[in-house]
Amino acid sequence: MMLERLGDVAGFVGRPLVAAAEQRVGPSRSIIAGLVAAILLSSLLPAGRSEAAAARKIAKAKPKQPQSPTRCEMPKFRIVVDVGHTPDSYGALSARNDPEFGFNLVLAKRITAKLKSEGFASTRLLVTDGKARPSLFKRVSAANDGRADLLLSVHHDSVPDKMLEAWEFDGASSYFSDRYSGHSLFVSERNPHFATSLKLARMIGRQLKEQGLRYASQYTLPVMGRYRRQLLDKDFGVYRYDGLVVLSRTRSAAVLLEAGSIINRDEEMEMNSPERQETIAGAVAAAVGEFCAKR
Ligand SMILES: [Zn+2]
Repeated sequence: MMLERLGDVAGFVGRPLVAAAEQRVGPSRSIIAGLVAAILLSSLLPAGRSEAAAARKIAKAKPKQPQSPTRCEMPKFRIVVDVGHTPDSYGALSARNDPEFGFNLVLAKRITAKLKSEGFASTRLLVTDGKARPSLFKRVSAANDGRADLLLSVHHDSVPDKMLEAWEFDGASSYFSDRYSGHSLFVSERNPHFATSLKLARMIGRQLKEQGLRYASQYTLPVMGRYRRQLLDKDFGVYRYDGLVVLSRTRSAAVLLEAGSIINRDEEMEMNSPERQETIAGAVAAAVGEFCAKR
């Protein structure tokens, strides 16, 4: 889930989950680490930039200057597909103890490949490293420095700690919640291109719906406590989330996609399947194509 808030990086990862992750380092994590190492070599990040300097630069930036072209030419439309979290600060832990970062990486790579194959040649995959909070400013800087037209941040969902139930998986004490499932989309009213971001999020939500997927509706419920959000589009599952750094500090239009719940035991398996990943990638590419065509 979203650890990328201002002033709160605890998110849904409670102590028991982190402890479980430290005890169990399975083969999937090694594979992910290898992938990450390879991708980091071609990272978008400028070398040698200190986090403080990056943060200052963002603070000084004037977010009201729209950068997006009035017309959209597919090969020149700069899309940054941001992999949520980092290998060190991996987000939520799935019901089977796999880190969210790995799910985000696999899906973001599929989305990037799909967008490129559809003609969006300037699409780039963004992988950041390090601890949670500094990584937020790194990814915002990368998007702003690369003069992105659009940032899509890819995540997978969990639930608040109080909803977790214990079970055993692969000999390890683990946690799950089968109570909720589905994807959701988030935009920030603080983003200088809020209206554009909302429009695109709606298009993505509509494409996902047309694929037969249902959005996660629990974010409006009191049980979600501080994770409760305002539903901006009840047909396509778009929520308002102003506090997210990646949405509010990015100068381009920005949308965060929670692709599905990995704390739900059935949905975790679906999120692991190439078929579901391709469906989501196809829906995103169709939505961005529609968005571009209408500009
Ligand atoms: Zn997340």
